[in-house]
Amino acid sequence: MTPGEFAAAMPKVSLHCHLTGAVAAATVVELAARHGVPVPGDRTAETLYDVDAHADLAEFLRVYDTVGAVVREPADFERVTYETLVLAAGHGVLHREMFVSPGSHAGVPWPVQLAGITAGLEAAERDAGITCRLIVAIDREGSPAAGVELVEQVIEHRTDHVVGIGLDYAEVSGPPEKFVEAFARARRAGLRRTGHSESGPPSNITTMLDALGCERIDHGYHVVTDAGVTARCRDDGIPFTCTPISSDVGRYSGSGDGTHAVIGAMVDAGLAVTIDSDDPPMFGTDPTNDFQVLAAARGYGPDQLIRFTHTAVEASWLDDTEKAALRARVTALTPEF
Ligand SMILES: [Zn+2]
Repeated sequence: MTPGEFAAAMPKVSLHCHLTGAVAAATVVELAARHGVPVPGDRTAETLYDVDAHADLAEFLRVYDTVGAVVREPADFERVTYETLVLAAGHGVLHREMFVSPGSHAGVPWPVQLAGITAGLEAAERDAGITCRLIVAIDREGSPAAGVELVEQVIEHRTDHVVGIGLDYAEVSGPPEKFVEAFARARRAGLRRTGHSESGPPSNITTMLDALGCERIDHGYHVVTDAGVTARCRDDGIPFTCTPISSDVGRYSGSGDGTHAVIGAMVDAGLAVTIDSDDPPMFGTDPTNDFQVLAAARGYGPDQLIRFTHTAVEASWLDDTEKAALRARVTALTPEF
């Protein structure tokens, strides 16, 4: 079995995928028509996620706003959640901890969003055997008060499916220290904590760990530019949720030349690296492809590929009993190599 074949067949655990970025283009276009929402540039399902059909990367990333605007009814949330989870299950994803961004769906109360998403993830678990937990992401471009307000909403309407909070959108607009209070509130309520860091200095990683109490770092590629931060994260076993394809397109992880050298350096440094696909249809990828591309670029064989999955099992926010069950499923479903 080649590494590519192994990557397709192996069990996976998904710790870095955004619901808003995981909606199929055809679904976006269909929902836009149904709700009378214009699609910028009159883009079709074929061109919606084509980066070359946009003026630049910044304009391309605004496609997120369109997706946020067309997913508005409870049935829409149910549908897009179900579709992405069933698709992931087809790629061997056994468990996903998925980011949801309530602020992307302006005017739709969080409990309404949560009800639809919950219906979708329960149906996907029933039909495809994939489990899903939710991480509610604070938009760091918003105010500290908005962050606190979102956490209060999350706590008020909390269910067993909601395990933690995250922090995303443009890092330059929202340094982590802006959200100390929101994260402290989440911590007191027993919510787990993670945050994106892809373009900021390595000190942002330290701030996220020390001031926000983050237990994982999403992306975090610049960790390898600071030996002290690297050593600390290695020694503390801090998990990094890396996303090869989207980060290469977005140039977060380095050159954008397809070598994925920074992720390679993180692996070589002994950091706890996990692999996922971020916003899969937006970046023309899927849960298998990110592993295949990384394996081809770095020369990884099945032993390293399945190590990413085992690292993700241990980094997941399941309780000990659920984690043991997931570990056993991964072992049972790992192809011989
Ligand atoms: Zn992300």
